Amino acid sequence: MKNFKYLVLLMFFVASFVFQANKASAVEFEFYYQKIVEVKTINEDIESDDSLWTKFKKTVKKGVNAVKRTWEDVVTRNLALGEGEKTWYSKEDHNLAYKVERVKVSTEAELLAAMGVKSEDELNNGQKAMLEVFRNSQNEAIQAEAKIGYLPKVHVILSDTTGYDDSSKYPNVRKDFWPYSSGLTINLSTNCYNYPNSAEDAVSTLVHEFAHSLDMTFKEMKNPYGLDGSHYGNEITGKRAAFVEAWAEYNEMIASEKEAQSILNNTKVLCEESKDVAGSYTTNIKEEDATADQLQRSEAHLAKLLYLISTDPEIENGKDKVYKAFTSTRWNVLRTMPTLIKKFVKQNPEDTEAVCRIVDEVFLGKLSEEEFYKYVGKNKTTQAYWENRGKETEEENKDIDASKIKNQEIEDNVSSGTTVIIETDNNDPFAE
Ligand SMILES: [Zn+2]
Repeated sequence: MKNFKYLVLLMFFVASFVFQANKASAVEFEFYYQKIVEVKTINEDIESDDSLWTKFKKTVKKGVNAVKRTWEDVVTRNLALGEGEKTWYSKEDHNLAYKVERVKVSTEAELLAAMGVKSEDELNNGQKAMLEVFRNSQNEAIQAEAKIGYLPKVHVILSDTTGYDDSSKYPNVRKDFWPYSSGLTINLSTNCYNYPNSAEDAVSTLVHEFAHSLDMTFKEMKNPYGLDGSHYGNEITGKRAAFVEAWAEYNEMIASEKEAQSILNNTKVLCEESKDVAGSYTTNIKEEDATADQLQRSEAHLAKLLYLISTDPEIENGKDKVYKAFTSTRWNVLRTMPTLIKKFVKQNPEDTEAVCRIVDEVFLGKLSEEEFYKYVGKNKTTQAYWENRGKETEEENKDIDASKIKNQEIEDNVSSGTTVIIETDNNDPFAE
């Protein structure tokens, strides 16, 4: 169903916007505020002692609601948001739907009025975060992103779950209103930000979701994030899913040093979901123990790759160049990270060596020669890098060996030959 949904969405994209894609102005946001006013049970489970007629009625109702849910998800949320009382169908529990009051907001005053307050002092943490999202929706990072958008307009829904945040009473609210971007529509919710000083995180999420709205890449058709359908910042997922998330995270990184640090930290220890049991994870996979294949499916590593390229002192205007490589590979809807990096190198041959060095660093020197050329292309410069790289590593190892021997000698002297010497030099990133 998900794949069908994305195909339908793509058709809408193409039909509605392809002829407007070259317009000069940047993408604009259209803000909506919605609050939950009721949780409704829309289907009843079929009981064994139900009469045939009751069973039939319940089955028909389920079918009708399934159609309505898909319509609401695919069409209404993207193309016909509208105002007033609306239904937001639960994806977590198909027997549930939320009644929401939705209103379009263009000014802060309208947003505060919709939230039912006169002053922002009356807002709770989650609502404050939504107000800050609205206020910062034209910040530098968003404007930079907007310039490379292809849609003329993106809807942003600020969902207010106040009153429905008790997970023991409303266990699905968190996931049903979880931040997402469908391309045309971004949803954020107070539920994720009901802690003090959460505004910065919420604004960062807008940067992240907006980055998804700039991207046409199709994730893997089957379980891009694994069986549980969700992902962690340090998760090993499908290659295209990892690319999609890395792109969004990279945009957060260049907008906020705090985010950059937190995403870099995510590269240290990874996790991977079982292919058989949903939600069952192998955790604690240290990056030095991960395989080249796993590292290339780690969204944090791919985000780091883009981040290092865009901030490397040897690469001039790295950010602009990354954006250019991104936009010029946009129509390749099956792209992965090598697609973008290879384009980057092609567009900026002067940066080839620096990119080779960064690719090598991010993947801890674990890529095979063939994998390496997938990122940087095969030409004289990249071949020379690959060949010298081997030699440099040997030289470095010689240096390390020499220093180990030196340390050993020193310890030998100190220990007067009675202690077993244990090598403690663990600075080599290629060490097992
Ligand atoms: Zn994302």
